[in-house]
Amino acid sequence: MAPQYDAIVVGAGFGGMGAGIELDRLGLSNYVILEREDDLGGTWHVNHYPGLAVDIASVTYSYSFEPNPYWTRLFAPGAELKKYATHIADKYGLRRRMRFGTVVDGARWDEEHQHWVVSVAGGENVTGRYLLTATGFLSQPYTPPFPGIDTFAGKIIHTTAWEDDFDLTGRKAAIIGTGATAVQLVPEVAKKAQALTVFQRTPIWVVPKVDTAIPAPVQKLFDRVPATQKAARLFNTSLLEALMVVGVLNYTKAKPLNKAAGVLAKAHLRASVRDKETRKQLTPHYDFGCKRPTFSNTYFRSFNQPHVRLETNSIERIEADGIVTADGHKTEIDTLILATGFNLWDVNFPAIEIIGRDGVNLGKFWRDNRFQAYEGITVPKFPNFLSLNSPYSYSGLSYFTTIEAQMKHMGRLFGELFRRGEHTFEVTEHANTEFLDRVTDKLGSSVFYGGDCATARSYYFNPHGEAALLRPTSTLNAHREAVSFPLDDYVYGKSA
Ligand code: NAP
Repeated sequence: MAPQYDAIVVGAGFGGMGAGIELDRLGLSNYVILEREDDLGGTWHVNHYPGLAVDIASVTYSYSFEPNPYWTRLFAPGAELKKYATHIADKYGLRRRMRFGTVVDGARWDEEHQHWVVSVAGGENVTGRYLLTATGFLSQPYTPPFPGIDTFAGKIIHTTAWEDDFDLTGRKAAIIGTGATAVQLVPEVAKKAQALTVFQRTPIWVVPKVDTAIPAPVQKLFDRVPATQKAARLFNTSLLEALMVVGVLNYTKAKPLNKAAGVLAKAHLRASVRDKETRKQLTPHYDFGCKRPTFSNTYFRSFNQPHVRLETNSIERIEADGIVTADGHKTEIDTLILATGFNLWDVNFPAIEIIGRDGVNLGKFWRDNRFQAYEGITVPKFPNFLSLNSPYSYSGLSYFTTIEAQMKHMGRLFGELFRRGEHTFEVTEHANTEFLDRVTDKLGSSVFYGGDCATARSYYFNPHGEAALLRPTSTLNAHREAVSFPLDDYVYGKSA
């Protein structure tokens, strides 16, 4: 029985779209992209809170093969990313493959027919020879179970469900959380709210954001002479690479660089916040890089405004009209903004139930053993499956680096499959173990294990205390291995 599709892709964000572009290039054009949201763009569709902008410069945060000369700022606003995603979908004919509002419940390898059966909410089954999950890392919003939250009588809004017509003017607002989202949102809410209290559990490292509008003549130059934008990309990407490889991954050998980043962030804090006690509370007590640092010129300054207050006592409960902290103080609010981020490890690895060969459940396998994936993309006992958001897959700082390395991996793997005239592939246990040992070893010199991350509460760490999210190698290494991994790291076979 032939499957309905060559391939099924789950997720219509930049990862899923990159996979679609590569499938077309490989001639596997009969594919479908299943997306739970009502439009494409992934995180850039879901997130549209005020202040949203990319925090990796746009020359780098985009596909290298599809530069956009018309970014209006060095760090483009979120709406431009969404527009860029739409452009990609239209240009590469991806939209006609997409099915929106399609919630995937799970996927099961059908051993007899050697294909994947993907079950969709509502009872439909879709079959495909290959399965690619591009469900993102930060795609399952998290709301902490604060006691009493159900009794709150005012407005509750999570940053991933922002209502664009919701007017904050005159509101007594609270923002819970001080991650990258809050850093962008706080200054915007402060502009409108009558009072704003920011509830911080763990301070975040914030460095200045060197951002500016890109003048029209420069945009034209990028358009007419693409080499100029390529050069800008190379320059920026190299800077990020140095920060990541030297300051974070090789922390034990290059502590001074990491410390210098911390010194810069502290100087930024000192120059921005007048009150000494507030400065102290905003100062992280873990090493730079343990947790995703962020960039802003306005976040710290917000706390100088008389109507903005930082609250560092832990939240005890929420009542109908306010938040009570452990010191017994109640902050009266009518608007509760949850900038509480995402649940990565409990519900996102994998984001859907995936049952491979011999009935192995991927989520259970990862939890009973260690989180692992060969080259951050394939797992033994899961034939014809590419898990694009896997442990150790995220390479470098821009997600596009990961996407394009994985597209290259697909190219090499499917190229070999076709050359052999086969239809199934599965990574060997040996190759997987060797990769896991290698990344584990490399992590030893990173800030995650060599530095002081004990109080960071970083989502880079899984519940076992392993920093199993980022690939601890240079992005050059990731790209090199994607085009040169040993072909016999996989076994290949015929379909039924
Ligand atoms: P996040 O970094 O996970 O931050 C969530 C915040 O909520 C943290 O401050 C966390 O405190 C707090 N929190 C969670 N549970 C809590 C509880 N029970 N009580 C009190 N506080 C609680 O999430 P995010 O800010 O949405 O950012 C996630 C990631 O998205 C970023 O790291 C970044 O990679 C990406 N992002 C990118 C951009 C961009 O590129 N422009 C913008 C926004 C986000 P603890 O730290 O103590 O856990």
